[in-house]
Amino acid sequence: MKYDYLVVGAGLYGATFAREATNAGKKVLVIDKRPHIGGNIYTEEVEKIHVHQYGAHIFHTNNTKVWEYLQQFATFNRFTNSPVANYKGELYSLPFNMYTFNKMWGVVTPEEAKVKIEEQKREAGITTPHNLEEQAISLVGRDIFEKLIKGYTEKQWGRDCKDLPAFIIKRLPVRFTFDNNYFNALYQGIPVGGYTKMVANMLRDIDVELEVDYLENKDKWNAMADKVIYTGPIDAFYDYKLGYLQYRSVRFETEMLEQANFQGNAAVNYTDRETPWTRIIEHKWFEFGKDDRGEDIPKTIISREYSSEWKPGDEPYYPVNDEANSALYMKYRELAAGEKNVKFGGRLGEYKYYDMDAVVASALDFSEKELG
Ligand code: UDP
Repeated sequence: MKYDYLVVGAGLYGATFAREATNAGKKVLVIDKRPHIGGNIYTEEVEKIHVHQYGAHIFHTNNTKVWEYLQQFATFNRFTNSPVANYKGELYSLPFNMYTFNKMWGVVTPEEAKVKIEEQKREAGITTPHNLEEQAISLVGRDIFEKLIKGYTEKQWGRDCKDLPAFIIKRLPVRFTFDNNYFNALYQGIPVGGYTKMVANMLRDIDVELEVDYLENKDKWNAMADKVIYTGPIDAFYDYKLGYLQYRSVRFETEMLEQANFQGNAAVNYTDRETPWTRIIEHKWFEFGKDDRGEDIPKTIISREYSSEWKPGDEPYYPVNDEANSALYMKYRELAAGEKNVKFGGRLGEYKYYDMDAVVASALDFSEKELG
């Protein structure tokens, strides 16, 4: 059987392209080396709880086209992400907003909070921020940087905040209102029944082969289709011949507890440097409100998340978009541009800290160009 497209990777980019190509009348084969579809958004049902096996995924977007597109495949619940920061037992609201400023400094009005931040920014002597540390201090002041950002970021990225790009911290809103919604997004939610169900709907009636490794037998797979859409790591595609791109990997310690409610929230970030994990996720709260329905399940499942530098054999999660890696990526991209029959997409294929909505948007754009 000869296919029009071989899609390597059954994550969100691959599933979106596969759906669009199939709808355009193309024959598509999707393969993945894991035993399941969904890539890192894969969820698995345990005790009626959809466990986010590869970490918390909260869909949010301002892109109406993407939101409406996904409605074909899932009904989204009304989950609003409002993580709590735990700094040595002191709890703070996230993202940085009036509740955070009040707890940190006792300030009551937005004006007072702004004065405090301006004071700390001035003391630090920052005019134009050049790295994550300077960016953070100029946005929220030194106290918040020290208690809620420095330790978490250094655990998460394994690098000093001075050596990280400023854009990483700009992902988080800073608000002078009382609003714990982590995202500035018009649409937000989690697919009812889990992400796996949504991806399965996207891949309906499309051939999928799991537990097969494209890179181990490229020639065989390439021969099966006219074109390849590759969503794995771009450096792995080239057998790392120009060098290794750096990624952060994540390890989860997941436990089922014989109690209905462990931490009262889906995500608690441990922002001190000493606690070895970055955050604890309590999966049931992604799906159930903090009401009787959630507490009706007498058990709960939690995952402690540990961040580490990726090494061969680990799962890559986050590209480290600093200067050196960006320069190396550009070289791989030049190689990729010379490929006639292979296109690269997604967080790993494009070495980009993409959110889910941006992945879908990028796959839809590419589909339009590719499929006409
Ligand atoms: N961050 C932080 N403290 C927190 C949460 C986030 O300093 O309590 C910083 C950290 O540098 C992190 C970045 O903000 O890498 C982006 O956080 P986000 O929650 O967007 O990361 P993700 O959920 O993608 O891991």
